Amino acid sequence: MSKIHLLNDTIANKIAAGEVIERPASIIKELVENSIDAGSTKIDILIKESGLDYIIVKDNGEGILKEDIEKAFLRHATSKIKDEKDLFKIRTLGFRGEALPSIAVISKLILKTSTNNDGNGTEIYIEGGEIKNKSEIAFTRGTEISVKNIFYNTPVRLKYLKSMQTELSHIIDYVNKLSLAHTDISFTLIHNERIILSTYGNNNLIHVISTIYSASIAKKMIPINIENIDFKITGAISKPEITRTNRNHIIIFVNKRYIKNYLLTQAVIKGYKNLLMVNRYPISVLNIDMDPTILDVNVHPAKLEAKFSKEKEMNKLVEEVIYKALTEHTLIPEPLKKIVDLKYTNSLQTSFDLTLKPDKDNSSFIFEKNDIEIKQSNKLPFLEPIAQFHGTYIIAQSIEGIYLIDQHAAHERVNYEKNIRLINLEKIEYQDLTVPITLNYSKSEIEHIFYKIEELKRVGIEIELFGKQSIIIRSIPIWIPKGQEIYFIEKALQEILSNKEINMIDMNKDLVAAESCKSSIKANRYLTKNEMEELLEQLRRTENPYTCPHGRPVIVYFSKYDIEKMFKRVT
Ligand code: ADP
Ligand code: MG
Repeated sequence: MSKIHLLNDTIANKIAAGEVIERPASIIKELVENSIDAGSTKIDILIKESGLDYIIVKDNGEGILKEDIEKAFLRHATSKIKDEKDLFKIRTLGFRGEALPSIAVISKLILKTSTNNDGNGTEIYIEGGEIKNKSEIAFTRGTEISVKNIFYNTPVRLKYLKSMQTELSHIIDYVNKLSLAHTDISFTLIHNERIILSTYGNNNLIHVISTIYSASIAKKMIPINIENIDFKITGAISKPEITRTNRNHIIIFVNKRYIKNYLLTQAVIKGYKNLLMVNRYPISVLNIDMDPTILDVNVHPAKLEAKFSKEKEMNKLVEEVIYKALTEHTLIPEPLKKIVDLKYTNSLQTSFDLTLKPDKDNSSFIFEKNDIEIKQSNKLPFLEPIAQFHGTYIIAQSIEGIYLIDQHAAHERVNYEKNIRLINLEKIEYQDLTVPITLNYSKSEIEHIFYKIEELKRVGIEIELFGKQSIIIRSIPIWIPKGQEIYFIEKALQEILSNKEINMIDMNKDLVAAESCKSSIKANRYLTKNEMEELLEQLRRTENPYTCPHGRPVIVYFSKYDIEKMFKRVT
């Protein structure tokens, strides 16, 4: 007797539900995505007890034709794709035809729908996947799906749900994301009769951000908008002073679909260069629009991941647009920019090619000639030092206001940018190691490294193979600090072994930052007026005079107006 048999639809749907429907939030995700695909402009989500009591999603979309209703609950039944080639140009959020049958099989579900405005609609009642009733009702265009008693026939799943609060936070998190991606849709989320979220659907992202995060954060968001032949990136990112302790607020949509992608998230972080404090992450909401043919969304059951055929180019563009937006929106208020331009031309004649350096016993500072050309930036106006406070902060003024500058952080920034330039020089200077370093690797790793010998040479590391499992390092770039050689080389080889391109700057940011810190003026060091002037002038010429390499602020500014306000001279 044959042993293999086909599973009936109910079991097949329950199996599919196991993949697609993990928790109440998954049901909301699937239902709301269907509403979005139906072209709705208004979506109301009503839930009770974190969705475990009921979930109702009501939309004003195109509705489902009477004759299609039963079909919508069959597995792999969809109106969104027809054949295989459609799979490669998906614009809708759904396409697998799995959600409705999966939800219906684990709950008691009522669907009300109408495709017209004349008030004629249909209602269907399904229990555990079986249609129990279908009737004509009065209903205006749109669809309303009520899901009750979730997981009533899959008790194990019910047992695995986390606390009500956790389930609710998943729901809120997802609805927040949907409303950030679809700013043209008005979303309302009501839990236990309390409004949790309500957006206007007036296409204003900053407005939605304000609803979700607060008005004060929304004010600190910088808009993003860039387009090239392959991608259009829009959204908003927080100024570096607004950060979070984790990456969860780096929200990325691809063709308005929320996705999780490590490299894209990293690209956002990289775009901030070293404007962020260590272990702090920005808030950013980005949508990347692209031709669906260069995108594969069919790689994850809940479609949370995607594959891209032009991934590197996309990540690079994200990084660039973020950095550009941040540099354009300097931390110094707008009116100052004009003064900067004027003063900048006046101060060109000053001693640009000098570097402030501690002398041998660290007792005073000397100016050393700079052999490296500096790329002029104009983010700060000309600053005149007035005094030093507690041997630690420089007090300076411009026409527009007063500045407090942390002298250590400022010098760290100056040194850091100088060192980064050294690493970035076209021609890397080598130093031969008097005692060559030998490192051991596995045979396959050695094989890998062997093919990258030239690449390593390009970044200043000269190696030779030694036997089957060792390499000898003959020379290293000159800027590597003493005692850090092995650390640096192992890091570079690790990059090679994980198939990454060696990016000297990215790889060594921490190292360079630590070195720059060591060689910078410390607090409690009294400076002459001349030294202060020089330091401020050099700071002025950095690319980012606002934060030290660790992300701490360098400069605090009070406008004349701020001060007059403090003294109630103005209101
Ligand atoms: P998919 O979204 O992958 O197509 P679903 O099981 O989620 O599969 O939905 C099946 C079909 O039911 C959809 O293709 C769509 O035609 C229809 N449908 C579901 N929800 C709605 C809705 N809110 N408005 C209009 N049509 C809907
Ligand atoms: Mg769907």
